[in-house]
Amino acid sequence: MALDEGTLAALRDDAARELPRTTELRHALHRVPELGLDLPLTQRLVLDALADLDLEVHPGRGLSSVTAVLRGGLPGPAVLLRGDMDALPVTEEPDGDLVSGHPGVMHACGHDMHVAGLVGAARVLAARRDEIAGSVVLMFQPGEEGHGGARLMIDEGVLDAAGSRVVGAYGVHVMASTIPVGVVASRPGTLMAASDTVRVTVHGRGGHGSKPYLAADPVPVAAEIVLALQTMVTRQFDVFDPVVVTVGRIQAGTTDNVIPDLAHLDATVRTFSPATHAAVPERIARVCEHVAAAHGLTATVDYERGYPVTVNDATEVERARRVTRGLFGDDAWLDAEAPVPGAEDFSYVLEQVPGAFVFVGATPVGQDPATADYNHSPRARFADDALVTASAVLAALALDRLAQAAG
Ligand SMILES: [Zn+2]
Repeated sequence: MALDEGTLAALRDDAARELPRTTELRHALHRVPELGLDLPLTQRLVLDALADLDLEVHPGRGLSSVTAVLRGGLPGPAVLLRGDMDALPVTEEPDGDLVSGHPGVMHACGHDMHVAGLVGAARVLAARRDEIAGSVVLMFQPGEEGHGGARLMIDEGVLDAAGSRVVGAYGVHVMASTIPVGVVASRPGTLMAASDTVRVTVHGRGGHGSKPYLAADPVPVAAEIVLALQTMVTRQFDVFDPVVVTVGRIQAGTTDNVIPDLAHLDATVRTFSPATHAAVPERIARVCEHVAAAHGLTATVDYERGYPVTVNDATEVERARRVTRGLFGDDAWLDAEAPVPGAEDFSYVLEQVPGAFVFVGATPVGQDPATADYNHSPRARFADDALVTASAVLAALALDRLAQAAG
């Protein structure tokens, strides 16, 4: 059974009533941004904010996460709601009173909004605990910005924190521009890219620049590899399932008349489907090794897997579309036409549990979403009003999924 109009309206009103409190929490978090997997001040604020809600709270062991289980009054399965907690090594350009108190660190990706929005959802859900058939796992996650915090929380058991594997998982990401405040956007299937790093070393034999035939020059081989990788991308992969390979660093030698022993290449690799993500490392290694072999040299290829492709379940995106429109009207939902080439470690959760990740517009009122500063900018600003959207959508997704299970 889907949530009815009256329940959705009540959720929206409850989330709006929480706004002063969620805003206060968001501002407190914004003033003490922390990096990586160890966020003691952030964790303390989360624990304090949840203290009066009668939840089963489990702080992380290897990282400063918080897993909190809200038990409903009726039996049923468990669902998961996630908010990431970490900031970025960015020096904030102040605009008004709300500014980082930690020099060189800033909530420039809006994860303070995610934490406060998830606490807001927890309060809305706790207030109607008696009607809930099942449990809600609240996943407060450090280390999204390249540290794989979601992976570590899965290893510590977050997906089974309620005693059984969660049957649905939902997360939001606020956007400082591109989407107007209060608008929710997503798409079925691939929403975000996988991001990998490849490091290539071409092994030659150094010598005198005037007598290359007595040496084995790795420099022209490295140059051929750069071009061969671009040819590989266009000849071996479907143009509608794109691959991006960018060699961002190339290094060899010391001066003009010395052939070096080695040449190094570093590249970033973006893919948009699990199949392509799986296939691309072997293809890259083949090109590098065989181009080198063609010239009598060798290449070693070190391929580092980053976050996998973020893939939304189609049924769960339909749920997100329906509850968003029920909460805030038809215009509050936007079908995202294409995936975005950024990466996200909620992908690890969505590899194991059907769910949906959605973008929430937080462009400050009065600014043009097309020109406002984007996430990760030292001037990125996030509208507090988007906390109502985040809290209401997360709470509604959890309730709607549990209502479906209750039949
Ligand atoms: Zn982010």
